[in-house]
Amino acid sequence: MERARPRLSRRRVLQGTALAAVPYALLPETRAGAHVPGPDHPLAEWQPASTGNYTVANRPLSHPVDRVIIHVTQTTYPKTLIVFQNPKKQVSAHYVVRSADGHTSQCVREADIAWHAGNWEHNTRSIGIEHEGWVDQPAYFTDVMYETSARLTAAICARYGIPKDRDHIIGHHEVPGTDHTDPGPHWDWTRYIRLVNSAEARTAAPVRPSFG
Ligand SMILES: [Zn+2]
Repeated sequence: MERARPRLSRRRVLQGTALAAVPYALLPETRAGAHVPGPDHPLAEWQPASTGNYTVANRPLSHPVDRVIIHVTQTTYPKTLIVFQNPKKQVSAHYVVRSADGHTSQCVREADIAWHAGNWEHNTRSIGIEHEGWVDQPAYFTDVMYETSARLTAAICARYGIPKDRDHIIGHHEVPGTDHTDPGPHWDWTRYIRLVNSAEARTAAPVRPSFG
């Protein structure tokens, strides 16, 4: 909170000068409506979680990554982003996928450890993907959400050499010791794993910033 005032002042200065020439990385906030690509998944919008809601790491060097954990938010997409931006909530996930159109936000870098599994060992070894909806409302699990999420999971599996199967792509309810039930009985695992395996390889390609 102490930093709010100087940051705002800096922002005003920036807005009063050549704002268009300032790289996104130097701005305290993204401009409204701008799609800033996620650092790891270019198709995702970067909507960073509070730095108080995850653990900085250097994965996969610091911790091998061999799981993707599937969640359902039990709240709306925008409320999920707000929760992740609130350091009092002590929770985050790497990605959030919107029900209506599959729009995806990245909230935590994959190198860092998001707090989503409720189990430190599983947090350190996994990428967490939240899906907008409720476990008892299958209408939220839209075709476009399945397809977009499956492409994301396929890209993650390609990055870390994770087998695209149910031993490595798991539900939150399968994390040892959890009392969470998501994604719940309406999540179509057979369909999801099939979509992950049929996702086009090129969607997994642009991983590292090595263009040109
Ligand atoms: Zn969950």
